[in-house]
Amino acid sequence: MRLTNLTTKSLSSLLSLSFCAWTNTAAALDMSFSDQAMKDAFISLPVVLRDNFQQFVLAYGSETANVKTFCDRIAQSYVMFKWKPAIEGCGDRGINWRSQLKSHAGSPLIYAEFGHGSNTTLVLGGVHPDELTPIPITFKFANHLQANPQLIPENGRVIIAPLVNPDGFFRRGASRTNGRGVDLNRNFFTQDWYGIAKTWWAEKREKNPRHFPGHIPNSEIETLFQIWLIDTYKPDKIISVHAPLGFYDYDGPGDQKPRALTDSEEKARMLVRSMSANSRNYKVVDFTFYPGSLGNYAGNERGIPTVTLELETTNPDKISEYWTQFSPGLEQAVKYPFVNTSAPRTKGASLFLESYGRKTARFNDESSDTKKPAL
Ligand SMILES: [Zn+2]
Repeated sequence: MRLTNLTTKSLSSLLSLSFCAWTNTAAALDMSFSDQAMKDAFISLPVVLRDNFQQFVLAYGSETANVKTFCDRIAQSYVMFKWKPAIEGCGDRGINWRSQLKSHAGSPLIYAEFGHGSNTTLVLGGVHPDELTPIPITFKFANHLQANPQLIPENGRVIIAPLVNPDGFFRRGASRTNGRGVDLNRNFFTQDWYGIAKTWWAEKREKNPRHFPGHIPNSEIETLFQIWLIDTYKPDKIISVHAPLGFYDYDGPGDQKPRALTDSEEKARMLVRSMSANSRNYKVVDFTFYPGSLGNYAGNERGIPTVTLELETTNPDKISEYWTQFSPGLEQAVKYPFVNTSAPRTKGASLFLESYGRKTARFNDESSDTKKPAL
C-alpha cells in the first residue's frame, strides 16, 4: 500500500480510538466546554491527544531518511548482541520499509508489506524490547520473505512491524515499557480496561512499573500504530512474537470456566496447532487474556485469531537456534487459509472523528491525498 492510499478515514478512525473512551462521556457535553476542560485539567497527562497528535506524524518526504537513520542505529545496537545487522536487522535487502508515525523519541514506527493477496497475516515484534530475541527473529522473517517471495501464496499477504517499541529497545539495557513507561500490551482500549486494568496492575503486579497500563487506554502512539495496522490491513490472523515464556498461546477461554470456543478461538487453536506441528511440536497453551492486551483487543473483541509466540529465552545467542525451530511455523502461519474472519468493528469508534477529527486537518483534507508522495 502506498501512502497515497492512506485514506483520511483510516487515520481519522485511528485518532478516534484514542479518545472514544473519553468522548463517551464528553460527547454528551458541550464540546467547547470539554475542550477547555481538557486544556485546564488534563493537558499535562503524558498521553497522545488531539492537540499533540501531530508531533507523532513524520513529515512528508522525510520517511526514507528517517528509516535509513533508524536502520543504521539498529545495526549499531546489534553489534552489542553479536547479531548480523544485514540479515537480522533492517538490512540492505531492498525492503520497502514504510512509516507514517514516529515514537515519542522520534524513531519511525516501521512496517513492510509482502505479497498482494487478501489472506493477510500481521506479524508484530519488539512490543516488549527487553525480551530481545523476538526483534531479530521478526526482522529476519521479513528479510526471508523478501528473498523468497514464493513462500507467500498467491492469495496471501504479510504485514510485518518488527520493532513496535523502538524507544524501549534503544533505552540503555532495553525496557519492557515504551519511552513513556507504558506497557503497550496493557494499553489497548478493551472493554474491561476501565474496570480492571489499573486494579490488576495494583493487585496482581503490585504496581510494578514494568506493567503500567497507561493513564488512559490507547494513550500511546505505539498502541495506536498497531490499531492503525489492524484497521488498515484487516488481518485474517495476527502473530505477535514475545519471550521468554516458552510456548505458543492462542487467546481462548484460558482458565475461565469451560465453554465452547468462539469461531475465532477455534480458528486460532487450529492455527496454533498447525504452527506448533511445524516448530518441533512446541508447547501450546491457552492463557487468559489481560485487560488492554492485543489478544484481548484483537482476538477476543474483534474476532481476529491472534497467536503469541513466546520464545524460550531472551538470550541473544539463541537466534540461529530459534530461527531454525520457528521459521517453518511462521511460514505455516502465512500459508494458513483463513478467509474473512475479522469481526465487524465494535462500538464508539467514530466519536472522535465526529468531535475532533475535522480539527486534525492533516488527515482530513481528502483533496491533498493526491499530492502526497508515495513511499
Ligand atoms: Zn512480552
